[in-house]
Amino acid sequence: MYNSLVIIISKILNLFAKVLCKILKKDNGNMLGRIVKKLSPDILKYLKIECPVIAVTASNGKTTTNNAIRYMLETNGKKVVSNKEGNNMETGIITTLIKNCTLNGKIKADYITLEVDESYVPIIFKKIPLNTLVILNFFRDQLDRNGEVETLILKINEFLKTYNGNLILNNDDPNVARLGRANKDNNNVYYFSVDKYKYASTYQKEAGEGKFCPFDKTRLEYEYYQYSHIGKFKCPKCLYGNEEIFTKITNVDLENQSFYEDNIKYYAKADNIYTVYNFAAVISVSKIYNLDAKESLKTFKLDNGRNEKIKIKEVDTIINLAKNPTGANVSLRMLNEDNEEKELLFVLNDNPADGLDVSWIWDINFEIKNVTRIVTSGKRAYDIAIRIKTSGFDENKIEAYLDLEDAIKALYKTNIKKYVIANYTALQPTRRKLQEFNKK
Ligand SMILES: [Zn+2]
Repeated sequence: MYNSLVIIISKILNLFAKVLCKILKKDNGNMLGRIVKKLSPDILKYLKIECPVIAVTASNGKTTTNNAIRYMLETNGKKVVSNKEGNNMETGIITTLIKNCTLNGKIKADYITLEVDESYVPIIFKKIPLNTLVILNFFRDQLDRNGEVETLILKINEFLKTYNGNLILNNDDPNVARLGRANKDNNNVYYFSVDKYKYASTYQKEAGEGKFCPFDKTRLEYEYYQYSHIGKFKCPKCLYGNEEIFTKITNVDLENQSFYEDNIKYYAKADNIYTVYNFAAVISVSKIYNLDAKESLKTFKLDNGRNEKIKIKEVDTIINLAKNPTGANVSLRMLNEDNEEKELLFVLNDNPADGLDVSWIWDINFEIKNVTRIVTSGKRAYDIAIRIKTSGFDENKIEAYLDLEDAIKALYKTNIKKYVIANYTALQPTRRKLQEFNKK
């Protein structure tokens, strides 16, 4: 009774919030969820969910993969409720579901797809049913919030011990594949893998996690690394790494943006290896639910700020999000794979959503090629400038500006191609300022 009342109140609040947001021209984010959770901490338990729930978790790639799954389902004619704005903690998920439920708490959809923060998986799915869980990767990310990556994996492992639903795992990440053994009675574990691609290496270029077998602590042997610690590994002692593969991506061609799976050629806007991994997860979901992914991946567009290519004052500009060392390394890897001369803007904030600890920048591999100048900005403009200087980059070619507008003005003094890397809370303000600058 009380919870029905909470749902009705929240519906009224949502209407007010909508009007208020229109007047203030602001996005209310997960405000509704925060209020509802105060009124009824376990509100999620009282929602009536009768359709399959598909969730994606990872250090990197949650938003892209969740949105690609949603898009795949929609192009197959399904009605989907999803937290596509990326509000992936409990209050964000409450907001999404409350906005899409009837007055008696029923969610009207064929599927619910959710990106869920790694540390919230056990919390959310104690309260709502879960049909399929996708786990992409685990890297160091926001250490001050999540603790060490091992602690996080053990929490999810604990949750999986009693989980019997579909579990889609990246076989090429030893931190992830191990979770397939959490519940030996679960017959619904599916592994995906991507064959060696052109820029794979036989040594690890970037700092990574998971160099030891989680079962017997033996050092893992790698045939090759795709990026970071993702690659073809094997434990020489217990042979961990030899799982049966459900979805195997082959013939990755980043130039022509295509790859194969089970003799089917896919075209998808994936010009980097980590997006190919995200799409391997999407294909796995489509196979489990007997849906088509080929047509939807062909037309799926990556989100703003994910390898987004734009022109600012006629200058080619490529924008990437990087909220942890792996994200930054992947962005710098793409920059290195481009042989043209370029300049880099790195915007670094330390707001609560970024994690207050920016020590992760010391794990970035700053070996960069054909970069003739670097501009830094954000609240930690000087920290990132010092980090880059320490890597051996000529300090006379580094300019730091606390003010983002000043930084952008300085960046476009030349017509050289630009790469922009921004961390979590820096990304959207940077995109906005670039567009404003472009119009001036
Ligand atoms: Zn082993």
